[in-house]
Amino acid sequence: MDGFTYHGSCLCEGISFNIRGQPEKVFMCYCSDCQKNAGAPYQICAKFDKDQVETLEKEAQIGNWIVRQTVSGAEKHKRFCTRCGCTLWTVPMNHGGEKFIVRTALLEGGLETLRPAAEFFAPCKPSYVTSPEGTKPFARMPGY
Ligand SMILES: [Zn+2]
Ligand SMILES: [Zn+2]
Repeated sequence: MDGFTYHGSCLCEGISFNIRGQPEKVFMCYCSDCQKNAGAPYQICAKFDKDQVETLEKEAQIGNWIVRQTVSGAEKHKRFCTRCGCTLWTVPMNHGGEKFIVRTALLEGGLETLRPAAEFFAPCKPSYVTSPEGTKPFARMPGY
């Protein structure tokens, strides 16, 4: 064991990262930003403290797209691989940049291990999508 709980990478594996410990929460999100970013009805994300995530690459390889129009009114910084375009995580600025919202699909075994407990922006869910058993729907994103 190397002390890390999760290992992750982008699509091209040009950027890899390690995470220590468990997330504060795991959720599915059906907001229009997540839908566009995923090219799918939702993204599944885990909320970690910034300090839990250790990036193995130079910051220079990580791009930043700032989303200014948000429901909370605070900017979201979407960090991505500049080579393959894969989103790594989003940094919501209403937490002062201290939280990383990481796509669980980037983590080895993440989709199986990190089961979502909540669904955000549930009214935006397409009618053909079935929710996983036990997830709690929210109209927006509570406490986010
Ligand atoms: Zn990449
Ligand atoms: Zn979303």
